[in-house]
Order: sequence, then C-alpha cells, then structure tokens
Amino acid sequence: MSSLARASEAPLAARGDNAMQAFDVERVRRDFPILSRQVYGRPLVYLDSAASAQKPRQVIEAMTSVMETSYANVHRGVHKLSQEATDLFEEARRKVAAFLNAAKPDEIVFTRGATEAINLVAFSFGQKYLKAGDEVILSWLEHHSNIVPWQLLRDRLGIVIKVIPIDADGNLDLDVYHGLLSERTKLVAITHVSNALGTVVPLKAVIDAAHAREIPVLVDGCQAVPHMAVDVQALGADFYVFSGHKLFGPTGIGALYGRFDLLDSLPPYQGGGEMISTVSFERSTFKRAPHRFEAGTPAIIEAVGLAAAIDYVEALGRDAVHTHEAGLLGYATDKLSAIPGVTVVGRARDKASILSFTVEGAHPHDVGTVLDRAGVAVRAGHHCAQPIMDRFDLPATVRASFALYNTRAEVDALADAVKLVQELFG
Ligand code: PMP
Repeated sequence: MSSLARASEAPLAARGDNAMQAFDVERVRRDFPILSRQVYGRPLVYLDSAASAQKPRQVIEAMTSVMETSYANVHRGVHKLSQEATDLFEEARRKVAAFLNAAKPDEIVFTRGATEAINLVAFSFGQKYLKAGDEVILSWLEHHSNIVPWQLLRDRLGIVIKVIPIDADGNLDLDVYHGLLSERTKLVAITHVSNALGTVVPLKAVIDAAHAREIPVLVDGCQAVPHMAVDVQALGADFYVFSGHKLFGPTGIGALYGRFDLLDSLPPYQGGGEMISTVSFERSTFKRAPHRFEAGTPAIIEAVGLAAAIDYVEALGRDAVHTHEAGLLGYATDKLSAIPGVTVVGRARDKASILSFTVEGAHPHDVGTVLDRAGVAVRAGHHCAQPIMDRFDLPATVRASFALYNTRAEVDALADAVKLVQELFG
C-alpha cells in the first residue's frame, strides 16, 4: 500500500500531528457510543464510513454543550449569548482553515456540505468566468455531485465537459489529461480520493499541469480529509471542498476553501440576510468573502460539532490514523482477494480506505443484505458514481469503507460474512 501521506507535501510533524503516537483502536472505539450497539443480536461492524462516518462523544457533547450554555444566532446580536455563539462559530472557521492549512480563515465558506460547495463554485465561478465553448475538465472518478452541477452549467451556458479516463486498475490517465488541457480549458474539477474505488489522485501533478496554463483547480476532498493530512497551499488547490459528516462531524455542514483573491472575485451564490453590506429596493451591496457566500442563518451548532470533530482527528494524529487505516485496507484487500469468486474492483497504485468488490453469482444488493443480517454494514450500489460503474461494465459493487475506529477483527467478520453469501448463493 503506497503512502497516503504523499497526498500532502508538508511533513506531518511540521503540521502539529504526532507521527509517533501509538494508535489504540480500542480506546478510539470507546469514544463512539454507537459502536457498542448490536444489530440483529450481533455486534455492529460498521464498514460504511465513506457514506457517512459515526460520531465520537466529543462531537456529541460539544453540540449539546453549545445548546445548553451558549446558543443564540450569530453575527447580529449585541447580547452576551450571541457574542459567545459568534465566537464559537468563527473559531470553527479558524479550525477548518488550520486543518486544511489555508492562508487565512476568510478563505473558508461554510456550506451544507460538499455538494452545496461545488454547486456554489459552479454557479458563481461559472457566472463570472465561463461562457459558451469554454471547457471544464472532470475525471471518470467523480461522484455525481462533481458531475451534475457542471452539466447544469453546460445546459445554462453552453460550456463543454471533458473527462479524464482511467485505466483498468482505476488509475488516472495523466497522458490523456495533458492532451485535454488547452486554451479553451477554464477549470479542472477533480476528486482527491474516489468514493467508489478508493483511488488517490496524484493531485500535485494534476494541479501543476493546470497551473502551468493558469487554469484553476477545484478539488473534491470528501473522501480524503478523514484519512490523510491535506495542505491546500502545498497542493496549490484553488478550491477544496468537503463534508463534515464524513469527518465524524454532524450532517448539514461542510466547507469550501477558496484561494482568497479568486473567492473574493466571485459573485454571490444565494441572496439574503448576513451576506449584504447595504440593501435598498434599488440595489444591494455585498460583504466580502467568505460572508458574501453565507446567506441566512448558518449551521451554528453543526459548525461547533465540526470543530470538535477536527480537534478529535488532530488529537489522534493524522499520521497515526493513516498508518492504522492503510494496514486495515491492505489486510482486507489480501483477505478478500484470497476468497475464490471475489473480485476486487479498483487496484490503483495509491488507495485510501475503500474496498469495492463483487461476489460471483450474487448481486451486490443481495450480498449487502446477507452481510447486514450478519451485522456487517456495507454499501451496495453505484455509490453515486454511475459513470465509473459503466466504465467497469458493472451495475453495482459492494463497498466496504474503513475509518479510524475499524479493526482487523471486523475485516475477519466481513470475510466470514462473504463466505456465508457464497454458501447461500453457491
Ligand atoms: N464527493 C464525494 C467523493 C463523495 O463521496 C460524496 C458523498 N458520498 C460527495 C461528494 C457528496 O457529499 P455530500 O452528500 O455530503 O454533499
């Protein structure tokens, strides 16, 4: 398994992570109350963190605490509670900025999640910088949320979408990518880690090639931030998006990082309270980034939860998390590959935390159902990445996804349950 840490150019030690920290997975598991429950009378084996991750007590308590002690609307009140809530909200922004190594907190826009963040960029960047005939480059690895917003823009503006192919193992074809870049290319929008195959995209190479032609790059970091250190400055990303709920935080919050000059040059995405400087019936003027993009009351409690989730991951040490997960993925890949009739889909050179597979003679949905009865929660389907399924000529796969709280014993439970499927369908 190649190094996930390569995704970031900055040494982890320099980023405040403690690479030498011992990783005690049993202690980690005790932080997640849900992991001690049973399903169908069996211990829960949760291998669906790529869809949404479970929440540690620290996140739950931080959210409860703000509601019990410091809750009010932010940015507008003169009273004590509003000031406390505003401080917590803006502290969360600082935490996200530090987590991504953004140059300053004003480069972070809170959104509902990655989907809304990509739609924001498609709308606002599209309005300012794109016209008919301009090209946006995506890859075959994209989640629907990094495809459909660009198609909506294509239908509105007449832009052209180009797609970087992948090889049979799920590696991006960089040679074709270089050939796709031209004076018509106005943006590259690409995932950091594929949610369907686990491929880690060689982002630095992708971004450097785009920047050589002064083309900005948007990165969908949903499946990267829970598993590896991300340094947007070292990578040179112009936009970077992620969702809080996959990072052990709550639903309803995510973040858009935007390089400040670029972000601040964009028109608003939605209009309403909080994003304006002045309003009259003739015209309104808008605040600067990031507030221009945060119309209405934001997800205050969720921002506090996201900050607690970031604290949690940072305290464990992202290097330690990476080592633990890389070990699990390697173990699971070997274990499942050794079962006759099981095919691992996606064997890219660099992978993170996701194992997609099929079982001969059993539809992935049936596999998922049998696994569920054995207490093993996986995803079965197209994973909101239909083009990649088409690429492999598959209707669906079974996807086991690993997080910092999973164990080798859970991988064993997965393998045993897969053998049970084969007995039932064999
Ligand atoms: N991109 C990727 C790679 C994802 O895995 C997901 C969620 N499955 C998304 C985007 C969309 O995230 P959300 O639904 O939280 O907006």
